[in-house]
Amino acid sequence: MIYADNAATTRLSEAALEKMLPWLRDGFGNASQPYFFGTESKKALDTSREIIAECINAQPDEIFFTSGGTESDNWAIKGYCNPRKNGIVTSEIEHHALLRSCDAKRSAGYEISYASPNSCGVIEATALSEMIKENTGLVSVMYANNEIGTVQNIPDLCRIAHGSGAIFHTDAVQAVGHIKIDVKESEIDMLSASAHKFNGPKGIGFLYIKRGTKINPHLDGGSQEMGKRAGTENVAAAVGMAQALRENCEKIDENTKKLRFLQAKLIDLLNDSRIVYRQNGGENTLPGLLSLSFPGEDGEGILHCMDLAGICISTGSACDSVNTRISHVLRAIGLEESAARGTVRISLGKDNTEDEVEEIFAALKRVLI
Ligand code: PLP
Repeated sequence: MIYADNAATTRLSEAALEKMLPWLRDGFGNASQPYFFGTESKKALDTSREIIAECINAQPDEIFFTSGGTESDNWAIKGYCNPRKNGIVTSEIEHHALLRSCDAKRSAGYEISYASPNSCGVIEATALSEMIKENTGLVSVMYANNEIGTVQNIPDLCRIAHGSGAIFHTDAVQAVGHIKIDVKESEIDMLSASAHKFNGPKGIGFLYIKRGTKINPHLDGGSQEMGKRAGTENVAAAVGMAQALRENCEKIDENTKKLRFLQAKLIDLLNDSRIVYRQNGGENTLPGLLSLSFPGEDGEGILHCMDLAGICISTGSACDSVNTRISHVLRAIGLEESAARGTVRISLGKDNTEDEVEEIFAALKRVLI
């Protein structure tokens, strides 16, 4: 098998698995219990929180464990509550976890506005400014897009939000562990992340909430997660997430270099062939993520042919695989229907090799020529 769908999920890091096993097997004590067997679990949670905080330049008490990106996005949007500032500005290209949470806020009386991207998927400062009004209290723009890979200029967008008195949230699920993130320098107020996108386990993520940010608690019950997200903590998953994030952050330059090389190789091979394609996402995209449109072709068909060749790629977004309509992201960047229908996403990961890229190209060629 050649796995080239790393934007959908990633392989669990070997070191993360090793660190998790003792907490799954023997260290099963409840982190809320005061005896030594519980406090050991609590210590492991605290250490994980510290490691994660350090990776994004936050404080440990600003990291809240969640079940993943979907929950973090839901919390950030639904937890925002300010009837006097009931305007929320987001973008047209957000993940459905964010968009559906905004729908719920609309039903609760909030006013939602959507900034449009340019044809590369970039939310330009002017496009965001135009959407912000006096009643805007929350702005949420994703760090990097899961379908086309476009990375936004988050510090700029954050400044615009703050300039009008709004707080700023970013869905950084695709970015954390893959590009350098400094929440303090960027002045981000809230940030969503998910472990399985950076070689951590599934079912865990975190929401960074800057100290002093007004946000309602997410789950009522016990006093876990500083009283904001109740429920017995998943110690093993937190330990695995911290290990995977640290590992990825330490190797971010090395991984980026390798992925840029591999993606350039695939593009060179395509350019030297007779295959007609266009690459989406503009100049600044996530390392390794290629959104390729083959006008007149059928993306679903390409995916299935590649599958028969043992190669895993994706059409639009894996989070939306039951929905075969043209993706809202491709529509928002103004891709014409025939190109949009022929779009696939190849997301290479740090484990992919040059030989695998050649095999991916050879398989594409068999399908397309
Ligand atoms: N946000 C983005 C940008 C994503 O790509 C995804 C998953 O693909 C999510 C949120 C949801 O994350 P999770 O799968 O951890 O719920």
